[in-house]
Amino acid sequence: MCAAMNAETPISMPIPGHIDPVPVPRAITPRADGRSDLMGLAREDIGALLEAAGLDRKQAKLRSKQLFHWIYHRGVTDFESMTDIAKPMRPWLAERFVIGRPEIVEAQVSSDGTRKWLLRTDDGQDYEMVFIPDADRGTLCISSQVGCTLNCRFCHTGTMRLVRNLTPGEIVGQVMLARDALGEWPKGAMDRLDEDAAAYTADGRLLTNIVLMGMGEPLYNFDHVRDAMKVVMHGDGLALSKRRITLSTSGVVPMMARCGEEIGVNLAVSLHAVTKEVRDEIVPLNRKYGLEQLLQACADYPGASNARRITFEYVMLKDKNDSDEDARELVRLLKAYGLPAKVNLIPFNPWPGAAYECSDPERIKRFSDIVFEGGISAPVRTPRGRDIMAACGQLKSAAEKKSRAELDRLAEEKQAALG
Ligand code: SAH
Ligand code: SF4
Repeated sequence: MCAAMNAETPISMPIPGHIDPVPVPRAITPRADGRSDLMGLAREDIGALLEAAGLDRKQAKLRSKQLFHWIYHRGVTDFESMTDIAKPMRPWLAERFVIGRPEIVEAQVSSDGTRKWLLRTDDGQDYEMVFIPDADRGTLCISSQVGCTLNCRFCHTGTMRLVRNLTPGEIVGQVMLARDALGEWPKGAMDRLDEDAAAYTADGRLLTNIVLMGMGEPLYNFDHVRDAMKVVMHGDGLALSKRRITLSTSGVVPMMARCGEEIGVNLAVSLHAVTKEVRDEIVPLNRKYGLEQLLQACADYPGASNARRITFEYVMLKDKNDSDEDARELVRLLKAYGLPAKVNLIPFNPWPGAAYECSDPERIKRFSDIVFEGGISAPVRTPRGRDIMAACGQLKSAAEKKSRAELDRLAEEKQAALG
């Protein structure tokens, strides 16, 4: 099967600083008040912190269970509200710990209901998050890094210098913040500890799905993304099923199997081209992990099946990757590897200085028809939140045009509005 395909020798040529993971260049600034932020921590980690702070093992275990529930199931941020924790214990906790949220620099709502947030880490790095409501679901698009090292030529995030990986707290914090904003925490009496976790489902909720399609390459920050997703999936907390989480990668082949094995989330692959020449140009990581390797890793992805197909994202670039021949080759490749696949055609979102244009709507329609005729679903993604520039990489650039002072003023207003 593979041998019948175009011979393409994968070149393991390092391109320094471009496609290899970079170490975290700047450590996270410790909290000035010396307290530890519990956001993003697993139950065992919370227990370990409590033990280190002086509780005996049994106490630490019990309290960590309670804390985990309050933090992730209830969305509570102050210890005083934790009614099943003994009163004297609450100030003891508050002296040592906080339950943080990312700082909101700017929040906007589009006329189509799409919401967009510009967030800031404790050490002053900005990243973004978008919520896209649909009739039957609500999808939160979260970031995994500040910037990205991969420099895909059509992506604005790729032009930003990677500042650093986001921590599990900053990744989970995005989900927590979205649920705060959507007012989605369960209310009522504190009796959930005895509840059947399975009864707590995403049905009827606004935030039902998560996609790791914001800033950054999630498989270059795998450990933090994995730990964060484990917290998000935990049945006693946010309880989001792995079937409702999709990780998008530009093709970090060596990490794909681990992603399937250790998190088991749905996979989306940013394919964008079907020839070595074009993919080398628009997704430079292709020079390191070529098309054949990538498609084979997809064929081997644990958990992929006809019921859980892999999504292939394909950005429509005028006269670059949008010919009838490209569409036919796409079908041929996906079939040659026997992939349970669906294709997502993304109209290119232009940004100032971009080297490409979006394909014409008729071209996109024709491309989509050819792939559909080949037996593979290929819907065209409707651009959302255009009026607030919610597309990939645009938010931060739009905000950067504002002055620091203006942004600080907006942040103050937001904080005040949050009470
Ligand atoms: N780094 C990961 C996830 C973040 S990018 C990845 O590349 O898959 C999420 C998706 O947005 C990718 O499919 C990416 O190719 C696409 N994208 C980036 N810039 C875009 C643009 N200007 N227009 C349309 N899609 C874009
Ligand atoms: Fe990074 Fe994804 Fe943008 Fe490529 S498309 S530069 S991998 S964020």
